Amino acid sequence: MPGPDSRIYVAGHTGLAGSAIHRALEKPGHRNLILRAHADLDLTDARAVDGFFAAEKPSHVILAAAKVGGIAANTAFPAEFLSVNLRIAANVIDSAWRHGAAKLLYLASSCIYPRLTPQPIREEALLTGALEPTNEAYAIAKIAGLKLCQAYRRQYGFDAIVAMPTNLYGPHDRFDAESSHVLPALLRRFYEAKLTGAESVTVWGSGSPRRDFLHADDLAAACLALLRGYSGEMPVNIGSGGDIAIRDLAQLIAAVVGYRGAINFDPSRPDGTPEKRLDISRIAALGWRPSIDLHRGIEDTYRWYRENCARETAAV
Ligand code: GDP
Repeated sequence: MPGPDSRIYVAGHTGLAGSAIHRALEKPGHRNLILRAHADLDLTDARAVDGFFAAEKPSHVILAAAKVGGIAANTAFPAEFLSVNLRIAANVIDSAWRHGAAKLLYLASSCIYPRLTPQPIREEALLTGALEPTNEAYAIAKIAGLKLCQAYRRQYGFDAIVAMPTNLYGPHDRFDAESSHVLPALLRRFYEAKLTGAESVTVWGSGSPRRDFLHADDLAAACLALLRGYSGEMPVNIGSGGDIAIRDLAQLIAAVVGYRGAINFDPSRPDGTPEKRLDISRIAALGWRPSIDLHRGIEDTYRWYRENCARETAAV
């Protein structure tokens, strides 16, 4: 269990998940957090990563760094999503073990479960069926990372554990129109439509896919619970316990933003997997529950977006 003086390295601390984990660690007063901006440490560079671990010798590693993107980015750039994420996982997990880390938490993703599988999805569903084609490259890399954790545990006794987060949202997300995930993409689209007085907003796909959305601060609390109280080979799901259709999500976002125009759907855009709601009994048994409901979480994310991305949007 990490103490206030433990040397904890948060890989990916500027991203959506990593920044929330960073905030959650700072609150109880962890004093020895180790952080590196992307410009200062390229996690795909094996020699650089090994040199960093040799010098810093973190006792705990949270691997939240990844190349991520929404359904369009995943489909357009499979080579990068596979190659970059494979290298990050291989380099960080190996160097952490080699330089004596006591524990590593790897963030996988709910998209690595089979495309069609009983809902809510239990951890045992892993590798029981074919993957969703729109994010197969990312999923394969994340499965490899998970398997590395399990292999280093079995062969070397390294305490590497795996969290399986659902679709995340919150501050520090990416809000670009084409490559982001649905929630930030729609927040921005509805906001811009309100500013320009547009008559309608287009949402990709049929609107019927269902997704399980969790605020990144809830994820961070779950990660800390795992770091403190879990050791085992089985990955642990982290989800909201519910889900919502994209059509209803769009209405919720429009209401938060105050957009009153029409909402259209573009069926030429892919729907992706029909549903992926996580069974959260395992993490619940550790005493964790999500605390931020979707409406409040969207309000919080919208506030952050307006405060931090205003210049970008003012150009509209
Ligand atoms: P996924 O869970 O990997 O499919 O991630 P996304 O967040 O990219 O997409 C979730 C669902 O939202 C899919 O069914 C998309 O087709 C749908 N969606 C609707 N509008 C948008 C949009 O503007 N951007 C994205 N990324 N997805 C959208």
